[in-house]
Amino acid sequence: MRTIYNFGNNSEYYIFVCSHCGHEKRVRKEPLTSMSCTWWSDGKIECCNDWQISYMQRCPHCGKYFYIVKEDARTGYGSDPEDDGCLEIGEYASICSNKELMSSLPPEDMASLFMQYVQQYNDVYRRGALEEKRASYQESRMFTEAILFLAARCRIPGILIADLYRQAGMFRKCLEYAADIANKTNCGSPEDFETLDRTRFLAIKGDTVPFVTRTVIRR
Ligand SMILES: [Zn+2]
Repeated sequence: MRTIYNFGNNSEYYIFVCSHCGHEKRVRKEPLTSMSCTWWSDGKIECCNDWQISYMQRCPHCGKYFYIVKEDARTGYGSDPEDDGCLEIGEYASICSNKELMSSLPPEDMASLFMQYVQQYNDVYRRGALEEKRASYQESRMFTEAILFLAARCRIPGILIADLYRQAGMFRKCLEYAADIANKTNCGSPEDFETLDRTRFLAIKGDTVPFVTRTVIRR
């Protein structure tokens, strides 16, 4: 269940422009509703009770998908747009599996999409999911493929890669990779090694659920 926010007639929203047809799409902007910030072992940073606006948006006019950069978007004020800009996990899996669509994107955008897909998959099926749900074959297969792509092709921290292997159920690979990082000197803070130890412990247990690595309360 997603929280629905209602700000009446004076809400700020994003204005994204479709790269195919040039039409605008308005998406609700998330409010800051929490004073804490939580970091997860799948790279997710939770800074408020927000929803994640997907990097890929479906144009309401031409029906095609286009990549967005939230930080570059214009914003407007008015009545709250109904669209929260968040893809359902099944639709997200289809997009990431679409080779033609993916090959039209620069690798860094593809990496952002895959990272977001992995985090959303964990949101839906693992992280505090209230009801028992099972991922479809395409969704779980895409989860593994995304992790393999991120591990092989992206510049992301080693401790994140180790834990992503674990989340994909590749426990042996995770432990080998984690041992490799631990053997290198000067490659992390004590907190990083604590995280790495947790990753190894959970991999030995055969656990795939992401865990909280840090929480900070803002003042
Ligand atoms: Zn369009």
